[in-house]
Parts: sequence; C-alpha cells; structure tokens
Amino acid sequence: MAYFYILPNKSIQPLMKFATKAIHAGQEPDPATGAIMTPVYQTSTYVQESPGKHKGYTYARGKNPTRTALERCVASLENARHGLCFSSGMGASDAVIKLLRPGDEVIAGRDLYGGTYRMFQQVFAHFGMVFHYVDMSDLSQVAAKLNDRTRMLWVETPTNPLMQIADIAECAKLAGQHKLMLVVDNTFASPYLQNPIDLGADIVMHSVTKYIAGHSDVVMGALATNDDSLNEKLAFIQNSCGAVPGPMDSFLVLRGVKTLHLRMERHCENGRVIAEFLRQHERVSTVNWPGFEDHPGHAVAKKQMADFGGMLSFTMHGDSMEEAFRVASETRLFSLAESLGGVESLIGHPASMTHGAIPREEREKHGLKDSLLRLSVGVEDADDLVEDLKHALSVSVASNLEN
Ligand SMILES: *Cc1c(COP(=O)(O)O)cnc(C)c1O
Repeated sequence: MAYFYILPNKSIQPLMKFATKAIHAGQEPDPATGAIMTPVYQTSTYVQESPGKHKGYTYARGKNPTRTALERCVASLENARHGLCFSSGMGASDAVIKLLRPGDEVIAGRDLYGGTYRMFQQVFAHFGMVFHYVDMSDLSQVAAKLNDRTRMLWVETPTNPLMQIADIAECAKLAGQHKLMLVVDNTFASPYLQNPIDLGADIVMHSVTKYIAGHSDVVMGALATNDDSLNEKLAFIQNSCGAVPGPMDSFLVLRGVKTLHLRMERHCENGRVIAEFLRQHERVSTVNWPGFEDHPGHAVAKKQMADFGGMLSFTMHGDSMEEAFRVASETRLFSLAESLGGVESLIGHPASMTHGAIPREEREKHGLKDSLLRLSVGVEDADDLVEDLKHALSVSVASNLEN
C-alpha cells in the first residue's frame, strides 16, 4: 500500500488520476487494526510518552487524524501540496481574510456568494479592510481598482446565480504582475471540473458542504495551496482561531468524496439535459448555463473546466416574481431550498432567498431578475427531472388562466 501513502507536504499528483485520488488519497488502512476506512478519531487529546514526545498529535484543535486524511485527500484533488479543513466554507474564507492587515484592499467579483459579501462588508470592513466589487469577466474593471494597497483578488467562477465565467489564468497573470494573492472560490465547479492552482491561483477555497461532501448532510469548508509559507500561516490561523471540523463530519466527507467523480459526471449530464429542455420551453426567456456556445463565458469555461456542471439559472417571459414563486412551489423532485451540490435536485429563487438582502434596483442592474430561478441539478433520472419541470411550468400557466 506504500504506493498510496502520501508523505506530509509531498504531492501525490504524479502517481494517480482523479478517480483513484478521490478514493485513496490521504487514506491508508488503519495501522493498528487494518480497518480499510479511516477511523473516526473521536478524541480531544493524545497521550504523550514523556513531555514533548508524541506521535505528531497533541490536541485535536491543532490536528486530528480523521481530519488529516481528509485534508490530504482534498489537497490531492486540487493538485495542491497542502490542504486545510474548516468548520464551514465561511470559516475557511474567514481564515483567508485574516492573512490581511487593516488598510489592505481586496478586489472581488460582484456576483459573489451572499455570505462572502456579508462577511467582507459587515465583519472585516469594520477592521479596516477595504473591498471592491467588479465584474471579474472584464479584467479592465479589475485593473481600474488596483492601487498600492491592493493585496488580493477574490474570484468565484462560475458565479452564483448568473453563471458568469472569469478567466482564472488571466487573473493569475494580473495578480502576478501586481504581487497580489489570487484566491479562487471553487465551490460551484468542484475540483473535478476545475483546478485553479494549475491555472496559477495561490489559494483555492471550497464550501465542502456542496459538491465535495455531496449528500446535504455536512457543513464544512476547505483551503488548498501549493505555497509552503501561506500554508503555514493558514494552519496557524486555523489552530489559533479554531474553526475546525469534527472527526465525525470529516469521516462523512471522506465517505462522500469517494464518489465525487461519478456524481459530477451525472450532474453534468443531467445539467445539459435540463438546460436544453428549458431553452426550448415556450415560457422560458433566458437560460444561464456556460455549456451553451452563445454563453459569453463559453470559450473560457471550455478552456478551464472539464465540463459545464449541474448548476444553472433561468428567467421566464414577463419577469414576474409571482410566476417564479409558483413554479418553485409546483416542482416535486426539485425541492425548494438553499444550498446546492447534493445528489438531490434543488430549486431556489435568488431574489427572495439567497440574494434577498440586495435592493431590487441593485439586483436588476446586475441582471438578477425577479423571475430568475436557480437549479442545482441532482443525479436522479434525467427524464423524471424533465417531467417535474414540465409539470411545474404547465401547472402555473393553468392556474394563471383560472385567476
Ligand atoms: C455555500 C457557499 C459558501 C459558504 O460555505 P458554507 O459551507 O455554507 O459556510 C461559499 N461560497 C460559495 C460559492 C458557496 O456556495
């Protein structure tokens, strides 16, 4: 089994392909019993032989073997030397911003995950960090915000919920020229579809809650980096501030991640079927899915992603919030809920749910219409998913006529 053993700080990438890494990276049979699954090390502390003489584990906020196995697995899936797991995606992002000092500036995408925006503006802005928001698919907008206090570019691609695409390699070039840290929130793509470190990113962030865990039963975050000194600083923050995941959750994610490649293949297949079905539906006005050749980010998505994923959003003719509500309440397989990336399909109404805090005028300015619905297409049978949407779109027309 030595083949699968990953030495600390050594990349195992040259040895294995994605599917093999998802199942084996970071994990080896338990040396004490031969248990093939990494045990749940439900312990807060570790006995030392004599003061300072221990097996590398002293207190479980710093390190836990179940978490270590997962951290190595996530690192290897992102082709990174280092991985760190956190109690949530926000906990991971929080650790990244704590690398900064008061006065430092960050340029971030405008179509940003709502929780990230809230943390930047309502937590870290109070500590003197400054955040600018631009359309990241247009690098001239990024360049316009650069000054000598800029320290970081924060990129999400594809974006939520409009599915806009930023060119990671081009962002990395710009970051390199101006000595900025490039952070990519890779949650929507998952490591199966996109590996930002290969494209020049310094830090990759994940809400593990979504595709990596994949079963809507855990909240967790992760960071990956190839930079030894950044990893040291982030691990220091992880231990000092303490947003660490528990061993049981780490075990559940290790179980979930083993099928990441299989799930992603089906998410992508089903995503394509649903996008194409919606596009030809008479009530649908636009479908935002980067797999369409006329999507403005299609060429970049094709270049940097392995496939186009299972996330998409669409608007309906007439652009009525009421109509969108009706469709979202008529679906039976697509459950009305926040979150994404699980095996089950979800539908959401961004204007009233995830992006409700943004004033209507602001929303409209950036293309976030009242009738926009977001789908996280799951791995159920595609025919059943199409039938579900067909039904929801027809029932609301019928009830419209009655009214
Ligand atoms: C969910 C999400 C987060 C936050 O992660 P949590 O695990 O919910 O804390 C950050 N970014 C994106 C793109 C997300 O979808």
